[in-house]
Amino acid sequence: MVVEATLSSAILSHYEVVVGLEIHCQLLTESKIFASDANAFGAEPNTHISVITLGHPGTLPKLNRKAVEYAIRMGLACGSEITRHNVFARKNYFYPDLPKGYQLSQDKGPICVGGGMPITAKDPQTGTPYQTTIQLHHIHLEEDAGKSIHDDSGVTRLDYNRAGTPLIEMVTEPSIRTADEAGQYLAEVRKLVRYLDICDGNMEEGSLRCDVNVSIRPKGATHLGTKVEVKNLNSIRNVMRAVDGEFIRQVQLTETGGRIVQETRTFDAATGLSYAMREKETMNDYRYFPDPDLTPVVVSDEWLASVRASMPLLPAARYQQFMSTYGLPDYDASVLTDARELADYFEAVCAHTTKYKAVSNWIMGPVKGQLTEKMLRDRQFPVSAERLATLITLIEEGTVSQTAAQQVFTLMVDQPDASPVELAQQRGLIQNRNTDALQTLVEEVLASWPDKVAQYRKGKKNLFGLFVGEVMKKSKGSADPKLVNELLTKTL
Ligand code: ADP
Ligand code: MG
Repeated sequence: MVVEATLSSAILSHYEVVVGLEIHCQLLTESKIFASDANAFGAEPNTHISVITLGHPGTLPKLNRKAVEYAIRMGLACGSEITRHNVFARKNYFYPDLPKGYQLSQDKGPICVGGGMPITAKDPQTGTPYQTTIQLHHIHLEEDAGKSIHDDSGVTRLDYNRAGTPLIEMVTEPSIRTADEAGQYLAEVRKLVRYLDICDGNMEEGSLRCDVNVSIRPKGATHLGTKVEVKNLNSIRNVMRAVDGEFIRQVQLTETGGRIVQETRTFDAATGLSYAMREKETMNDYRYFPDPDLTPVVVSDEWLASVRASMPLLPAARYQQFMSTYGLPDYDASVLTDARELADYFEAVCAHTTKYKAVSNWIMGPVKGQLTEKMLRDRQFPVSAERLATLITLIEEGTVSQTAAQQVFTLMVDQPDASPVELAQQRGLIQNRNTDALQTLVEEVLASWPDKVAQYRKGKKNLFGLFVGEVMKKSKGSADPKLVNELLTKTL
């Protein structure tokens, strides 16, 4: 980049970047937040649009209880305080994708206040991992707008299916200090919403959207600089690129005597640069006032307790458990708990075998190799947990070798109804563990190499490998090498 080239790292090192993230998560409720029309992605345009969603005069919104529960789940997972008395306000503005002319949102008194998300990030200079907690300002509930679709001919079409989709917006404190921290935090949020089953976390489809607020200040300063908000970031990588890009742009501007203005910019993934969209609206532009059609929502002790009781084990707890219960190394535990479906699958396999480390290796290797994002989300694994356990047991018993098991696994993926043993038999992959038959081969081999046997007995112990190889060859690769080793040692 041109800008980067003109800024020495010495100049850059005088500044630090300050980042705050706003993440919108579409909640996986069956219906919209204030109406009963379906909350579903990918339908024919304008098919999920009730009169309430479109804000026709005389219609009344009614709050979806599940949406409130999902927001509380996220708050509990982040250690936030749950607000008991909740009010929705109208945020008034005109835009073609907003049929009502206002968005219902929690302006004052968000449902979750404070809390934080522990992350592990890497020091940008040394690459050393460190742990930190990203502080949350709050999480609030609101409704999504519809979608404007701009086509190449300059025509804009409107699809209101998305209007009224329940959202939580998670707002951090301006406490993020590097692009990596921003990326790690977003990855943790995505992991958590998937664990909690409240959002599918799909950034390409827009179920999870992230806006990045960036400012700079001289290193060591405690005041906050003027922030710029970058929108339109549809991947973790782009969020990180946007932080780095904004940092450089703002330092460049400051160093050349320019002034940073508070504005909203849009990110271009092709170039990694951002472009000014509009100067930031102020609060007053929206003329917030409490929605007169909705009664306040009170979260009772009983309700809160029932949501708390429905919480699954969270990724951090599962990570610890995978190390303590299954004795896995921390690397394995973190890979396997990265997605709830993967962790569940691991435990399902372990219900049938105690070779936990072998299970982990199989999942991190061949299973993950076959697994696509879609399969993971649909909980469709390439082979069922029980069949994978059977295969691992076959290796353990010496019925098939490690290498043959890889072939059996590939066959298992294509033939979900055949048992691993059947498949191994069909392909002649069962190991020969017939002691008598193998002993005969051992004796034949030794008889055909009298000089080598003599040399071996005089101390040339590295000839042992030759004998093993010859026996394996004679068995056409079917012999169990462990057994061949034993028989050879005994006979020699
Ligand atoms: P706005 O009123 O413009 O929405 P907020 O104060 O609500 O601004 O903050 C929105 C987001 O921007 C939050 O995530 C917050 O942490 C972050 N933020 C606020 N000020 C700064 C700053 N000076 N630099 C970087 N991020 C900031
Ligand atoms: Mg704000």
